[in-house]
Amino acid sequence: MSKRDYYEVLGVSKSASKDEIKKAYRKVALKYHPDRNKDNKEAEEKFKEAAEAYEVLSNEQKKAQYDQFGHAGMRGNGGFGGGGMNMEDIFSNFGDIFGNAGGGGFDPFESFFGGQRSRRQRGQGQRGSNLKVNIKLSLKEMANGAKKKIKVKKYVVCQTCGGNGAKDSNSFQTCGTCNGSGQVRQVTNTILGQMQTTTTCPTCHGEGKIITAKCGSCSGEGRVYDEETINIDIPAGVSEGIQLSMSGKGNAGIRGGAAGDLIITVEEIANEDLKRDGDNVIYDLHINFADAALGTSVEVPTIDGKVKVKIPPGTQSGKVFRLKNKGFPSLNSYHKGDQLIYVRVWTPKDLSSEEKAILEKLRNSKNFVPSPTAEDKNIFEKMRDYFD
Ligand SMILES: [Zn+2]
Ligand SMILES: [Zn+2]
Repeated sequence: MSKRDYYEVLGVSKSASKDEIKKAYRKVALKYHPDRNKDNKEAEEKFKEAAEAYEVLSNEQKKAQYDQFGHAGMRGNGGFGGGGMNMEDIFSNFGDIFGNAGGGGFDPFESFFGGQRSRRQRGQGQRGSNLKVNIKLSLKEMANGAKKKIKVKKYVVCQTCGGNGAKDSNSFQTCGTCNGSGQVRQVTNTILGQMQTTTTCPTCHGEGKIITAKCGSCSGEGRVYDEETINIDIPAGVSEGIQLSMSGKGNAGIRGGAAGDLIITVEEIANEDLKRDGDNVIYDLHINFADAALGTSVEVPTIDGKVKVKIPPGTQSGKVFRLKNKGFPSLNSYHKGDQLIYVRVWTPKDLSSEEKAILEKLRNSKNFVPSPTAEDKNIFEKMRDYFD
């Protein structure tokens, strides 16, 4: 079955505002709510379909992606790999939709947790938070990729209790509020009639059991603050400010909850000679007048070490030489940048009397009269490759 257009699902136009989308979703969600459509499979599908549409259209980034690429743009991006959203996800988002609507609002979560609503608390524990680190990389490491070992201070799973937070296996008791199911049902009166919703049990936070004797090492939290060494594989082509994410390498969760992610922000270590410009590398080469006139061979630094470059006789200041594929690989394609060498002819500031005498002799020489060709005038001309 092919997917319906999200705008069509919610019955709004492409130009609908955030508020209009929200209103439209509220309407559809109420219409197909499972509590008002008992044992109606079609209504349930419509309900899920609407939730999925809203999940995308209410998120600016996802919406932009959907507008440009359609359903194909949603895959692999927190998208819905065919299975769609589950009911718990849908209900856990309801606080945003029905909450604070001024009086007649409907928000099962708000009423339970007094605003301290925590999403996705199911089964075991609570998810750990994400951990952020910065990592400094040289241009060479950015170009070639790098393996880094870093030490981070973070919450790790308690080894004494294995993460469940209990003293031993007898230190648990079934939660009395939810009788172990981890969920409670609530009936709310709304302007559209009574609605019943299932939410996470506020007593045990969805765990279904309560600890009667806590683990001594972690005081019942199931995790302790410690240090961990993490190996990071940096892909080739990263640049300053890029964020990489390692799933499950952040802080350990509470009482067996999933760990958060490790978010790594890349920082560039400044290079004395080379500057980065997108995928290209820029190098300013200063040569003296004699070398520019007579030609020479110079050593030039690149990301991967020095290379010899021939400077032909009669090279003008401002000339740019291009070292093909000596730049950065692109993260998203097979393209590789170049190194651009900008020639700067150095004019001496101090001269000895002997030097002056020589230059005086040359001053009025016929070949010293500037006569730039059209090619010379265009300093950003297409470069020849003198790399050997
Ligand atoms: Zn413990
Ligand atoms: Zn409970």
